[in-house]
Parts: sequence; structure tokens; C-alpha cells
Amino acid sequence: MSFQRLFADRFKAMNRVSVDTAGRPPSVDALARELAIRHSLPHALLVDFARRAIATAASSLPSTTTQVKDYADQLAAEFSQSLLREVINATGVLLHTNLGRAPVEMKSTDRASNLELNMDTGERGSRQSTVGKLLALLCGAESAIVVNNNAAAVLLVVAALANSRDVAVSRGESVEIGGNFRIPEVTEQSGARLVDVGTTNRTRLRDYKKAIDKRDNDIALVLKVHPSNYRVSGFVEDTPVRELATLPVPVVADIGSGLIDNTCPWLEGRAPAWLANEPAARQTLSDGAALVMFSGDKLFGGPQCGVIAGRADLVEACAQHPLARALRPGSLTMISMQSLALSYLARTATSEIAFWKMASISVAELQLRAKKIISAAHIGEVCSLDSIPGAGSAPGATISSAGVVVAGDHLAKLRNRELPIVARVKDSKTYFDLRTVRNEDDHLLIEALRSLVE
Ligand SMILES: *Cc1c(COP(=O)(O)O)cnc(C)c1O
Repeated sequence: MSFQRLFADRFKAMNRVSVDTAGRPPSVDALARELAIRHSLPHALLVDFARRAIATAASSLPSTTTQVKDYADQLAAEFSQSLLREVINATGVLLHTNLGRAPVEMKSTDRASNLELNMDTGERGSRQSTVGKLLALLCGAESAIVVNNNAAAVLLVVAALANSRDVAVSRGESVEIGGNFRIPEVTEQSGARLVDVGTTNRTRLRDYKKAIDKRDNDIALVLKVHPSNYRVSGFVEDTPVRELATLPVPVVADIGSGLIDNTCPWLEGRAPAWLANEPAARQTLSDGAALVMFSGDKLFGGPQCGVIAGRADLVEACAQHPLARALRPGSLTMISMQSLALSYLARTATSEIAFWKMASISVAELQLRAKKIISAAHIGEVCSLDSIPGAGSAPGATISSAGVVVAGDHLAKLRNRELPIVARVKDSKTYFDLRTVRNEDDHLLIEALRSLVE
């Protein structure tokens, strides 16, 4: 046995790392430099993948140098794929939670902004005042502020207006929405006590009255929650805001989806049928709610944030609460909300807000696009589809749509593209719903479809 072989065997026994034919274990640095040829990632990351691959090889004999390299390659590739990036949403889910809900263009440069500068006096101002004014005008509210998300909005409202007191919530509305937003837990975290009212399926005005009149209770608020992501049917009854508003305590409503006005004055023609059961900020306030809370990245079509709108004194109490500082959004979000609010007010939402563009495009137009894509790609067929609003908005509602269908499951391949495409598979066919694909991206779909035949 040669000295080299002997050394190699001892090395293998000592470190449990395999050797290549030249008798050397792969060096971390050499492996990292080799990875750099195929992966444009910082050296420090490649070193980390090289180390992990070598360590894994060391603990799982036998493994060859090629296997170590392949594993390091795989780690680097998986990491590259996981980097946050733009994708094409061909799922037909308009507000796809995994894809960041409402798509929104964040316009900014690296210049400063007047975020907290009062341009009139040159002194410190509030980031909330102008955007708040626009949102208040849109909702028919006295005042409004923007916080980090709707969960933060509910947390802040309850903390500011019911701390150490009781909040009345219908048993049918004591819900969990999405992962971990649970009304009883949010109430508890706000320092308030939840008082259950009525029953799971029916809660009437007199149940709220009873809870308010009960001597042990100190009800500061009635919290009305829109059970966004599910529907109960049958022997059910809830108490509308209009009736709750006759109670002697303020009614605050978590309407969730952020529809501003159910008449949709920014659309040409009438409000679409799929929005029929969705509560809207303007109508909820005019029905007598003291405050409404909603997400900015659902039907409002904005960035992740939450809005609190309604009575000026209550909004002010929220803004002054110490938690408000921890929950405030940054300048990108405020600038984006301002631009969206201006589009709504100017009634240019259908040409300027991506969500309303998707929502209002006609099926005929989608079919035409599908035909063009198919004839250019030489693959696929036109199909009728049902898009859904998504993100718990308008549960059960569908929007007629059209797209392209091709045989086979191509999801993994499509996700692997430089600009990934997220589509849907049903019965071993891949569906591309064009309602959620930007018109400008059709040529990318054509390219992707062509690559499926090649
Ligand atoms: C979506 C939703 C929430 C959570 O909103 P986020 O903006 O995701 O924090 C809370 N309540 C209702 C009713 C919702 O629909």
C-alpha cells in the first residue's frame, strides 16, 4: 500500500471525509471557488455551503468528492432560488398571500423625503397627517392613521381604547384569521378582557345589551369582526353595525379586506357582483361604527399596512398610545399609500392600481391574450377559469377568467426560471390564469411555454 493511500485511509478514518483520486479531501476554499463559477453569490455564503457539504459528507460515508461537490452545488442553487425576487403570478388568485398579497409598485429613489417635516413651518411634522387626511376623505371618516398591518391596527385600537377594561365580541366573531391572528389572543395582548357575547351561530342586539348591563363587566368597546376567510350558513344571525351603533359604547369594526366604498366609484359602471358581501369602510362608518380597521394589502391594493379610520378623538388616542411608535410604517409604505389614495380620489384606480387593473379586465380581453400567446408559443389551449380574490377577501366568490392550459405538471420547471412563474396544476394539466398576469408579461409566458416543448 502506497504511503499516499495509507495517509488517505487514515485521514478518512480520522475525519470521516472522503478523498478524491489524488488522495486529497476537498478543501473548503477550493470548493467555494469552484462554486463561484456557477453561482453568483458572495464568497462568504459559498464558503458556508462548502463547509456544510464537507461536514455532511464526513458524517455519511461513503461519499465521493463528486458527491460533496454536487451537494454543495445543490445547497447554493437552493439558496439562490430562495432569494426574494419578483415572480409572475399565473395562479388566478388576485391577492395571493404566498406571493405578497396585492402587487404594488414602490416608487422611491435614495433621496430623502419630507416624511416628518412640516413644509409650511420647516419644523417637525407627522408622517400621518397628509396620508391620514386622504384616507379619511376616501372613507368618509374624520381622521385616519396607517400602522404596520391590520393585526397591528386591531391591537392598537384595543390597547388604546380598552386597556384594563372589557371588550365585547360575538362568539361567532371570535375568530382566527390566517396564521396566528386570533381575536381572543390579540385582545389579551392589548391588556383588555374579552367578554363573549351570544352564541356561535346567533348573536342579537339584546345579547350585547345584557353584557354591557352586567354588573361584573366594564365594557369599553364592542369589537365587530368580519370573519373574512370562512362563511357560516344555515341558522345564523349576527347584529349589523347599524344596530350595534345604538349601544352606549363605541363600536369598532375590523372589516379586514379594506374595501373603501361598496359602490366602487372608481370603477366604470357598477360594483362587481363578487364584492356583494364584502363590508366597506365608508358604509360601516356611516352605519355608525366609531372606527374601522382594515389591511392595506388586500382589496385596497396597497403595500402591507393597516388603516384605522373614524372618530377623530379615538384615532388621536390610538396615535398617542406608546405602541403606535412601535407599529408605525416607514416612508416607502406611506408614500405608496399616498399615491394609491390619490388614484382612488382621482378615480384612476383601474389604470393605476394593479389590483383593480386585474379585477376589472374583461374575460373577452383575457381570451384574446390567451389566443395570441398560444399561437406564438405553438402549445396549449384556451380555457375558461375562475379567479378568486384571495387573502380571505370575499370568501367563496369567484371572478370569471380565461387562460392557457397545457398537458403535464410543469410547476417545478416554471418556478426554476430566472423570472419564476407560479401556475396551478389540476388533473395533470398546468393552468395559467391570465387575470393575474400583467399584460406586459405575456411575452415571458410565451417564452416559458416554448421552453416546455423544447
Ligand atoms: C386579513 C385580516 C386581518 C389581518 O390583517 P393583516 O393585515 O394581515 O395583519 C385581521 N382581520 C381581518 C378581518 C382580516 O380579514
